[in-house]
Amino acid sequence: MHDLSRRELLRATAAVGAGAVVFPGIVTGDAPAFADDDLGPSSGTSGPPAQLTGRIVRPQDPGYQSASLGWDELFVRYPLVIVFAQETQDVVNALTWARQNDVALRVRSGRHSLEGWSNVDNGIVIDVSELKSTQIDAASRVARVGAGLNQLEAVTALGEQDLAVTTGTEGSVGLSGATLGGGLGFLTRYLGMACDSLIGAEIVVASGADGAKAIEVDLRHHSDLLWALRGAGNGNFGIVTSLTYRVTPLRSVAYLQATWQGLDDLHGIFDIWQRTAPFADNRLGTQLEIHKSQILLFAVLADGAEAEAKELLEHILSVGSPEVTVQTGGWGDIYNGFQIPTTNEPANWKFFSQFTSEPFPEEAINLIRRFMENAPSDDSNFFTQAFGTGAQASEPPGGTAFPHRDALFYSEPGVGWGTRGEPDSGDALTPVAQAWIAEFSQALRPYVNGAYVNVPNIGMAEWETAYWGSNFERLRRIKGKYDPHNVFQYEQSIPPSSC
Ligand SMILES: Cc1cc2nc3c(=O)[nH]c(=O)nc-3n(C[C@H](O)[C@H](O)[C@H](O)COP(=O)(O)OP(=O)(O)OC[C@H]3O[C@@H](n4cnc5c(N)ncnc54)[C@H](O)[C@@H]3O)c2cc1C
Repeated sequence: MHDLSRRELLRATAAVGAGAVVFPGIVTGDAPAFADDDLGPSSGTSGPPAQLTGRIVRPQDPGYQSASLGWDELFVRYPLVIVFAQETQDVVNALTWARQNDVALRVRSGRHSLEGWSNVDNGIVIDVSELKSTQIDAASRVARVGAGLNQLEAVTALGEQDLAVTTGTEGSVGLSGATLGGGLGFLTRYLGMACDSLIGAEIVVASGADGAKAIEVDLRHHSDLLWALRGAGNGNFGIVTSLTYRVTPLRSVAYLQATWQGLDDLHGIFDIWQRTAPFADNRLGTQLEIHKSQILLFAVLADGAEAEAKELLEHILSVGSPEVTVQTGGWGDIYNGFQIPTTNEPANWKFFSQFTSEPFPEEAINLIRRFMENAPSDDSNFFTQAFGTGAQASEPPGGTAFPHRDALFYSEPGVGWGTRGEPDSGDALTPVAQAWIAEFSQALRPYVNGAYVNVPNIGMAEWETAYWGSNFERLRRIKGKYDPHNVFQYEQSIPPSSC
């Protein structure tokens, strides 16, 4: 047999696509038919054969490549079929089909998975990104939105009614993916984690031997599953099709950016920041970004004015001579204003997540400086987000699977490289970038504890407790109840308690 490389092999199977059955380890172009309309169930199934519905993209269709590609181009996969659901029933059908035909599946919304886990070679991608409904009840402060909104769409829709929930900072990230893993951003200290405001969801779960069904979860119905979705819901229990949030009035914010040139002030800035920002007024959310030759401070003061923001940050702003700008306005407008178009970003990315409960000593700050000075690309940074005494320190009613309530701050080294749309452009830098992240995060180990499932640490020992602490055992039991056959599985998914 012609010796194909792994990538060629995958291309070959993707090209035959829905016309071939692909068994693990066996690839054949003239295997038993597996085409559009005769995707009959394997023997022993209990329901009628499911048909795929929705907007369906297969390898032979134009647009397959862009329909498949995720935000992080380091990961290229060749799924057998991608279903863009238009309604919940499309998701039910897709999950039933996948189970009846024993096809690997992945769930996808905003495509920002940082390990490429929302896509799969030779499997089905169930994509909810076209579920874009928004129902906002300003009077009762409840918003129910389709699972396909990205963060920018959610912030904008809520902002038009002077309402908000916590989201991450990058608008193109899926609201689903961010919320289901926790969701941290500028409003974390004011409103808690995104998942803390999640009060309900519609989710399609596996049912029976090879079926699927949609269920509603909230504090009174399947409250154990709501708890699990609040911080551990990424592709573990089912496919979330809508999210219901408790939302909070937010009329305006002050948005401050300070820039220091060079890294000479790093120690002073970092030390004052970590000793003040986590304990500031809860309306103040701050992020520090340390680059190769610049330090940036970003701050959002909810319902605050310029003078107040500067006053709250006066100690840190008194270090060196930063250039400071402040804007005030509606949260939706400010959020829109600081977005960076994806096309301007590098193609490939690698991050390593970590939480910290004690201030970094001088040697930790020195090693951040050393690593940043030797960063492999200009698009590398060390990012931090203040937690401390903010609203995220306590759990909402019903609790959450997200555990990191006593964190002082969250941080991550990150590196971006390569050119978007030019698949091999970053290849030479890939091993350098990966080694830098590995060495940087390893060097910081004495000063950190815990990791963030939304920024997964591949290869990390005991990732289960790093992400979820002592909640992991309860998560396994809930998994055993809602997904006993482990239909939803990937590299770091939660195994059912029976496994
Ligand atoms: C540029 C960038 C900036 C980021 N900034 C922040 C930030 O400021 N704050 C923060 O908290 N995080 C941040 N993150 C991390 C981000 O929260 C995660 O990458 C998130 O999981 C992405 O969600 P997604 O829907 O875009 O991605 P996807 O790749 O679609 O999905 C990510 C994971 O969630 C699962 N999933 C997606 N939708 C559903 C669904 N409807 N039901 C069940 N499972 C689902 C997928 O199976 C996959 O495991 C950032 C990531 C990137 C790439």
